[in-house]
Amino acid sequence: MTESDKGFFGEYGGKYVAEVLRSALDELEVSFKEAMNDESFLKELNEIQRDYIGRETPLLYAKTATEILGGAPIYIKLEGLANTGAHKINNAIGQCLLAKRMGKTRIIAETGAGQHGVATAAACAKLGLDCTVYMGEVDVRRQQPNVAAMEMYGAKVQAVTSGSRTLKDAVNEAMRDWAANFGNTHYVLGSALGPAPFPDIVRTFQSVIGNEVKRQCAERNIEIGAMIACVGGGSNSIGFFAPFIDQKEPRLIGVEAGGIGPNVGENASRMTGNASREGIVQGYKSRFLLDNDGQSLPTRSISAGLDYMGIGPQLAELGKTGRVEFLSALDSEALEAVKFFAKNEGVLFALESAHAGAAAIKLAPKMPKDKAIIVNMSGRGDKDIFITCPVFRPDEWKIFLESELERLAEQKDIHNAKLMEKSK
Ligand SMILES: *Cc1c(COP(=O)(O)O)cnc(C)c1O
Repeated sequence: MTESDKGFFGEYGGKYVAEVLRSALDELEVSFKEAMNDESFLKELNEIQRDYIGRETPLLYAKTATEILGGAPIYIKLEGLANTGAHKINNAIGQCLLAKRMGKTRIIAETGAGQHGVATAAACAKLGLDCTVYMGEVDVRRQQPNVAAMEMYGAKVQAVTSGSRTLKDAVNEAMRDWAANFGNTHYVLGSALGPAPFPDIVRTFQSVIGNEVKRQCAERNIEIGAMIACVGGGSNSIGFFAPFIDQKEPRLIGVEAGGIGPNVGENASRMTGNASREGIVQGYKSRFLLDNDGQSLPTRSISAGLDYMGIGPQLAELGKTGRVEFLSALDSEALEAVKFFAKNEGVLFALESAHAGAAAIKLAPKMPKDKAIIVNMSGRGDKDIFITCPVFRPDEWKIFLESELERLAEQKDIHNAKLMEKSK
């Protein structure tokens, strides 16, 4: 069940969209199939993966962590070493290359925390495409470092003021734009969800992660017992799992955001949570966190990338059949995992990826030593200092922020004084 059957994975998936979007999706489906059978496209993709993204990414033996935990050897796939700091660039570059091949000159994307927006903006800069990123007004305010990065890459960040002014409103706005402009515009969707063919496209471009792991393990005679990845929409996990799905082994484990607890609004556990329901939202059927009226419920996670009410349809189906096991990790466990791998391996996990790290810390001691656990570090944690520092060293961080504000004010004064002088 690696690829969808007419856009469905079992009963999940589909293309539940308005008529206008159908033509855009149908055109995309045909062009994607053609591209994946075109040697010159694959060659171009391969070269840009190598030279721009920096593939392949290393597979690191976590020697000290393994010794401390005393069970199965742990290996970390260092996806966070990809250019721009996370796996999202694999999909962004793939889709932007595809868009160019289709003759599109303009790219649009949605973004929540800004990670997908940054990856898409960078890919567009590299490939010479015009880029507009839709982002909820609330997120624009909260995620200024990413907004600044997108603008540096030359993208236009369009603040969305409708609804809750967050990710789902940004998706709605991007879909509206696409329906009106698909003649020259491609919509780069950021995770392995949404209407068909996006789940197939995103998995395909992200499966470079799993294909490398398979090759790296074969070269080094590593037998894999379990593979662990965090699950937001599901793109890093499905790409990591993809080449192993049709086999019985290894165990494939997805880790959702357990947030601060099991109650509604405290987490983003779509597969294991109390409010998990089937539904059709934003063009596809899957599992979502919904109320009795089918309205989306609030979610919570310390990691912005996992803080989402929906999960990709293929993962929902693989959870149902049991091929993928789902666990959750609490905010506190993710923070502990960040510290553990930083201190013992010199590797700084993104908070999202640290959910997978937390599950590995729990599982490794219970698993036999002859088979490895591979953890996908989907991103690196540099981007998280605004979240981790206030937790780990709140007083020092507050003093730092205050002194930064003072410094800004001083600079402004100096600048104004200079302007005054000039105008004299
Ligand atoms: C966005 C993001 C995720 C979650 O998205 P998926 O589509 O589930 O992979 C995980 N890790 C990092 C570093 C991210 O930026």
